[in-house]
Formats: sequence, C-alpha cells, structure tokens
Amino acid sequence: MAAQFDINELHWLLDIVQSIDVGLVVMDRDYKIEVWNSFMENHSGFGSDKVNQQSLFELFPEIDQAWFTQKVETSVMLGTRAFTIWEQRPNLFRFKSYQPITGLADEMYQNVTILPLSSITGKTDRVCLIIYDVTGVAVNKRQLESANTKLQELALRDGLTGLLNRRYWESCLEHEFARYQRYDNQVSLVMMDIDQFKKINDSFGHQAGDEVIRTAARLTEQLARETDFCGRYGGEEFAILLPDTSLEGAEQFAERLRESIERQQIEHQGTPLKFTVSVGVAGITPDIEKYQDLIERADKALYRSKAEGRNRTTVWQ
Ligand code: GH3
Ligand code: MG
Ligand code: MG
Repeated sequence: MAAQFDINELHWLLDIVQSIDVGLVVMDRDYKIEVWNSFMENHSGFGSDKVNQQSLFELFPEIDQAWFTQKVETSVMLGTRAFTIWEQRPNLFRFKSYQPITGLADEMYQNVTILPLSSITGKTDRVCLIIYDVTGVAVNKRQLESANTKLQELALRDGLTGLLNRRYWESCLEHEFARYQRYDNQVSLVMMDIDQFKKINDSFGHQAGDEVIRTAARLTEQLARETDFCGRYGGEEFAILLPDTSLEGAEQFAERLRESIERQQIEHQGTPLKFTVSVGVAGITPDIEKYQDLIERADKALYRSKAEGRNRTTVWQ
C-alpha cells in the first residue's frame, strides 16, 4: 500500500519535472546524464534517449570543463548548492534565444543552480542542475545600461558638432585650473570665431551655415590632441583647452587650425564655399585668480584679431 502511494507520487513528480519551464538535469559523479527534462530537450534539440548515460562534456563541448568541474566538485565537497549567474558567464548551455527582443540576444542567458543530491546512505552520488532562462532580465539590463551611457554622452556633447557642450567644457576648464593651482603645469586656451558668419547664413542659408560649423568642428578635432578639450562655446564660437601646452605651442596649434580652415573648401548645392576664422590665444599665469579670467583674456585677443582684419591669430600679452 505504501509502495503504491510512492509510485503514484513519483508519477506526478515526474510530470512536474517534465512540464516545468526551467531546465532540469541530473548527472552521476562521472558527469553522465540520467535525467533530462523537456525544457532541455526543446532547447538543445537532443532527446533524453540520446543524452542518457552520455557525458555532459562530450555532448556540449562549449562548456568550460575545468571551470565547471571545479564548481561542481566544491559544491559536492561542501554539500551545499552553488550558483552561476549570467553577469559572470552568459550561459552554461549555448542555447538559441527565442525571445522576440532579439538583436541584442542571440543566445539564451542562464542562471544555474548546482544541487548535490545524496542517496539514503548519505553519499552524494548525483548532482542536479537547474537552468533558468533569464534572457529577458539580461536584455533589459543591457538595454538600460546602453541607454544610460547614451544619455550621459548627450548631456556632455553638442548635438550639431559632437564637440563638448559649453557647460561640460567649462567644468573641464575649472578642473584644469584647479590642477594648475596645485601642480603649476602649463595650460593654454584657444578661442575661435567664424568670420562673417551672418553673411554665410544670409547668402547660402542656415543649412550651409550648419555645415560650415560642422566643418570647423571636424578640423578642430582632427588637429587637436587626444588630451585637449574641444568645445562648442557658442553658435559659431569654439573653445579649445590645451593642457600641458605652452603659449607658443598653443599659438602654433591655433595657426595650423586657422590655415587648415582657410584651405578647406566645402560644397554647398554645387557651389564651392570657403570661410575663415579669427583666433585668440591666452595662457594661465600666476596672477590669474579664476578660470573666467583666462576666458576673458582669450576673448580679448580674439577681439583684436577681428578688429585687425579677421582671419588671423592674436596672442594675449
Ligand atoms: P564676425 O566676423 O564679427 O564674427 O561676424 P559674424 O557674422 O560671425 O558675427 P556674429 O558672431 O554676431 O554672428 C553669429 C551668427 O551665427 C548669429 C547667429 O544667427 C548665427 N548662428 C548661431 N548659431 C548658429 C547655428 O547653430 N547654425 C547657424 N546656421 N547659424 C547660427
Ligand atoms: Mg563670427
Ligand atoms: Mg560669434
């Protein structure tokens, strides 16, 4: 009577094991498979008759054997469960993902529980693996992370040119200024303004004006060093902060940039279009009290360049 009850119980237990939406695998201590539920059959394409008594590592060579046996053996030795999570390793079994949100996930992300099973004698002679499909969670998290990175980028960069926006650029200047006060390193600033830009807008249209601004930004980034801070300071005004650069070095950079812009020709609806810039250069000296003073100096030098005929560089003295 008692035996009859046990068999019935086993029967519905097996039903649960079959229909549950997680992977269930039981292996002996040689990693030979004994139980393989329908989740595993459906996702691996291997029926339980095919995998029965077969070695896990032969069937799934993608499993890192050294790592996985170490995990399982530790769990058996301690007699406690162990876990693997997708953040550390995306999966144990390389199953295809059938989530509609693919593109981001071709493979199923998995969390796995390793459960040592002991017989009545108390000896652990089997190990159970429970495989959870966590693709949905993983993809959501990845999407959120990439959206956050984009948002952060957007908050720092100007939409038209991709240069640093004014607010962020100023915070970089503030930071460099503090560094100067501590380490007394050389810091130079270049301010640049496109000449007669209103005329460009008026004669060729706003679109052409935007293209001119983008071109000036592109050339600036090409000539600047990786460690320089190139910002769009205003409509057609640019600010380039040059850390560890002398006033002479900054002047050379400014002249190279001015000349390369003067040489550049852009096409606007079949018409060739050229433009020039005026530049002001200044360096930090000990008498400067706040970073705004450095901007003011470079601005004054820029104003001189405008007043003296444009398309030139002036160094603040
Ligand atoms: P100057 O040689 O003295 O610098 O003359 P300018 O015409 O360049 O003078 P100003 O700096 O006063 O003109 C700037 C103009 O730039 C005014 C504004 O309409 C235009 N502008 C500002 N931002 C943008 C933009 O994003 N796109 C376009 N197309 N025009 C802009
Ligand atoms: Mg201008
Ligand atoms: Mg201007």
